[in-house]
Amino acid sequence: DVLATTPVQSSPQSVLRDTFGYDSFRPGQEQVIQACLDGRDSLVLMPTGGGKSLCYQVPALLLPGLTLVVSPLISLMKDQVDALHASGVSAAYLTSALSRPEQLQVLAGVQDGKYKLLYVAPERLVQPEFIQRLQHIQISLFAIDEAHCVSHWGHDFRQDYMALGQLKHFFPHVPMMGLTATADPATRVDILQQLRLQQPMVYQGSFDRPNIRYTQLQKYKPLEQLESYIKSQEGSGIIYCNSRKKVEDVAFKLANRGINCAGYHAGMEADIRDITQRNFLKDNIDVIVATVAFGMGINKPNVRYVIHHDLPRTIESYYQETGRAGRDGSPAEALLLFDEKDVARIREWISLTDNPHRQEVELQRFAAMEAFAEAQTCRRQVLLNYFGEYNASACGNCDICLDPPKAFDGTVAAQKVLSCVYRLNQSAASQYLIDVLRGKKLKRIIDSGHDQLSTYGIGKDESDAWWHNLINQLIHQGLIRVDITQHAVLKLNEAARAVLKGELAVSLAVPRMNLNLGKKAKLD
Ligand code: ADP
Ligand code: ZN
Repeated sequence: DVLATTPVQSSPQSVLRDTFGYDSFRPGQEQVIQACLDGRDSLVLMPTGGGKSLCYQVPALLLPGLTLVVSPLISLMKDQVDALHASGVSAAYLTSALSRPEQLQVLAGVQDGKYKLLYVAPERLVQPEFIQRLQHIQISLFAIDEAHCVSHWGHDFRQDYMALGQLKHFFPHVPMMGLTATADPATRVDILQQLRLQQPMVYQGSFDRPNIRYTQLQKYKPLEQLESYIKSQEGSGIIYCNSRKKVEDVAFKLANRGINCAGYHAGMEADIRDITQRNFLKDNIDVIVATVAFGMGINKPNVRYVIHHDLPRTIESYYQETGRAGRDGSPAEALLLFDEKDVARIREWISLTDNPHRQEVELQRFAAMEAFAEAQTCRRQVLLNYFGEYNASACGNCDICLDPPKAFDGTVAAQKVLSCVYRLNQSAASQYLIDVLRGKKLKRIIDSGHDQLSTYGIGKDESDAWWHNLINQLIHQGLIRVDITQHAVLKLNEAARAVLKGELAVSLAVPRMNLNLGKKAKLD
């Protein structure tokens, strides 16, 4: 038996070396392990890939009894247990996916002290008979993975996690370790309370993922943007969309454009999802188009890019999702397709929330996401700042750092747009306006006589995407607004008058039409 050969007096350092084959601890691991060996509760905040698992796996091997690991995802448990077996550690998992006899066999093993680690899903801990069983054996540690699932404020609340609060009641002397890659301050406080951690040691790791390049692109004809981006990349990627319908639509259309991709969302059959996931892990599928249902617990180290087709609602979810890129430490990219219209839509959704406190919190969180998306200074600074991590210098590996916005005198361009809005009686949406500006010979335009307007064709020299970007900037500057109650038609604001009269100059940023930031940084 493997266990019998593990010397009892061994140290964290020797377990790290002899069992896991690593030379040194990653930042934070040693402190957390020591706190745990001292019998203290702890909260471990480390980004994805930071090395959270070893924080409880090492103590599990040094402490006399069983370490119980709570994890929400069966696929992840199985991976971890397989990896532990490969390192010669005796471990098991107990899920409803196992047959009844298999479950009984694992339970018997637990009784006999055969395992050092047992992985269970949270619902198991709601069962009184399971708690009773545990009370008859020696438990050394409770490790609660994805601990943010216990928080209502988290992006991933799970009802079953609520029951974990009882553990402290039944096992007051067993140290408990909560682990999460979510750094949102409100969620943190909630985890401490919900799990009832006693004077915990809180380890706050850096959330910086220096190998991920953060970039933003105005969403414009997104399918074309996706296609050209993907075809310029090597390796695999994930595209997040905000609805199932969108996932299916984008996956279908990209497949038609010759991209080896598959859709993934919670409305799909479990078997299909499983196969898709496995094929992605095995590099048989290059691109997954998914809702947020995809990703937690998926340990694919070589995801080279994560694209957000739609704006996420919070920085936490954005960070979690983009964090699935570049887990191997090699250069990776997080690309956000940004559309002003998404902002209006999300605000609308949030305003439908009936709990006023919740609404307030959601709006604040969304404002932070919006600020990130529209940042004109280093995006990484904005991101880390949200998590309370201050960085004095710009990162050098985001679109803003690599290609800083350049200002130009946009007065004439702005006047073209504004007068065209006016000539179209403030009843045209942006694409139609652009079509008129660029003098397109469309039936709609000719039929309505808009080819006779003085502004018809005055914007020929620039592309659709350029004007689209410019219009967004004018919206930001408060010169025009989108009326979402009326098919997103553009209206003039009061300030537009001075610009039209030539009394006010407009400074704009040169629209960036594609990502041309050069080779991804080589980092070590
Ligand atoms: P997390 O759960 O925080 O996302 P993992 O525990 O899965 O991260 O660890 C990520 C990767 O880093 C794994 O492949 C793990 O084996 C490796 N790792 C963890 N700790 C160390 C270490 N001290 N030295 C080298 N590799 C490590
Ligand atoms: Zn930067």
